Amino acid sequence: MNDKLYIPNNFIEDVKSYLPSHLAIDDFIEYCKRPLRRSVRVNTLKMSVNDFKQSCLERGWTIAAIPWCEEGFWLERTAEEEQTLPIGNTDLHLSGCIYVQEASSMLPPMALREALSGNPKVVLDVAAAPGSKTTQLAALMDNQGLLIANEFSSSRVKVLAANLKRMGVVNTALSHFDGAIFGDYMSECFDEILLDAPCSGEGTVRKDEHALKNWSIESNIDIAAVQKQLIVSAFHALKPGGHLVYSTCTLTPIENQQVCQYLLDSFPGSVEIVSLHTLFEGAEKATTDEGYLHVWPQIFDSEGFFIAKFKKLERVENSNQKTKKGNFPFSPAPKKEKQFFDNLISNQFGLKSYSGNLYVRDKEVWLFPHEATELLEKIKYQRIGILVGTTHKNGIRLEHELATTFGHLATKNTYALSQSQAIEYFKGQDVTLEENTKNKGEVILTLCGAPIGLGKWQGHKIKNSLPRDLVQNGNLISWG
Ligand code: SAM
Repeated sequence: MNDKLYIPNNFIEDVKSYLPSHLAIDDFIEYCKRPLRRSVRVNTLKMSVNDFKQSCLERGWTIAAIPWCEEGFWLERTAEEEQTLPIGNTDLHLSGCIYVQEASSMLPPMALREALSGNPKVVLDVAAAPGSKTTQLAALMDNQGLLIANEFSSSRVKVLAANLKRMGVVNTALSHFDGAIFGDYMSECFDEILLDAPCSGEGTVRKDEHALKNWSIESNIDIAAVQKQLIVSAFHALKPGGHLVYSTCTLTPIENQQVCQYLLDSFPGSVEIVSLHTLFEGAEKATTDEGYLHVWPQIFDSEGFFIAKFKKLERVENSNQKTKKGNFPFSPAPKKEKQFFDNLISNQFGLKSYSGNLYVRDKEVWLFPHEATELLEKIKYQRIGILVGTTHKNGIRLEHELATTFGHLATKNTYALSQSQAIEYFKGQDVTLEENTKNKGEVILTLCGAPIGLGKWQGHKIKNSLPRDLVQNGNLISWG
């Protein structure tokens, strides 16, 4: 219990004015003071849920299933392990097999799950960093189709990019704009859209005790003005028949129901609410009369969250459409270069196919998702797909992300690291082998069964090719 938690009185008075009648304000305050349960999501691009469960058994981790997300689990470790080895330094985390994500934050992507199945989709994540939901969407899309992940803050774009790399995501394009541009520059381009909006964060006090420090209704109103712009723009960017999920980690109707009502009033007859009351067993406990999910901390013992889902019923004219100026700096890879690359990965790793198109810029060789082709000129991107190689005078040097995203398909030159070897690898050192090897060239390294990067066979060791910005320090992987 955090009895020192600061909850302003005017906030409590405000909450009382909209708390549903079946909930009690004292429970709300009590739950705000309780420590948040740790939860993780299994990244099915790297590990199956069954393998994760087995792995938890072996290490004595206690898990409990999160009812709304098959891949989500509340997780407990011993106090000693918690103290000695941060979860971010465990092998399951470093290898990208898990993402530490608050349970209720798994809900917005789940509201799109059904729509993302079937044919590859073109999806927009309007406010994406640090990427918990982007990586969840990419896993739900099975790394197929195209997922444009946008983020307005430049420092947060870097964190987003790092998380996508760790999780082995290949189907994204990153952009760095005010999310309000998409309606004008990419009108009716997306099958599905998530707008996990910037908000006042009233639902996050259990994680961040300062969340309510500067709370005021005036700031709720200011943020709601931004949210209204973003939701209207997102709706313009959505194809007819597509879905828009709007979510926040705040509680006030000013940033939730009223923003949704603004959308409904702006496009009468062109939009309808899709009720979320059957999203999972028990969802009705948090469903509003309109069909939105208003998750109070005391309902599922989680953070507070709000999720709404809409369907676009028909085309909507946008008279303010704009086109990007400036050149696109990539060109499709010449046939000879593509042939060279294909032979290289086939000979070295037995990789016979990959989805996407190769593009080049100066010496870099990139793999773009197929579905990006028609959208390349619409906006400027920070990066598209993954960097798979760099050309030099004797050919192409393969890059880290080729291994982390396609390594699971390799049939030769792979090597499963032991715990001590993995520690060497993440610390940026060469990996010691027990016996001399005659193998030559590059090798894909795996940990917990998942590909984590490249090395080079070299006699009694594997030369480390981990990009320098990914090198880790401190206590890694083992704590015993
Ligand atoms: N979806 C993210 C996740 O699950 O990891 C969390 C997103 S957070 C709630 C909202 C994000 O919106 C912040 O990273 C913030 O920097 C970004 N943001 C703020 N204003 C924005 C704008 N006008 N357009 C796009 N993103 C914006």
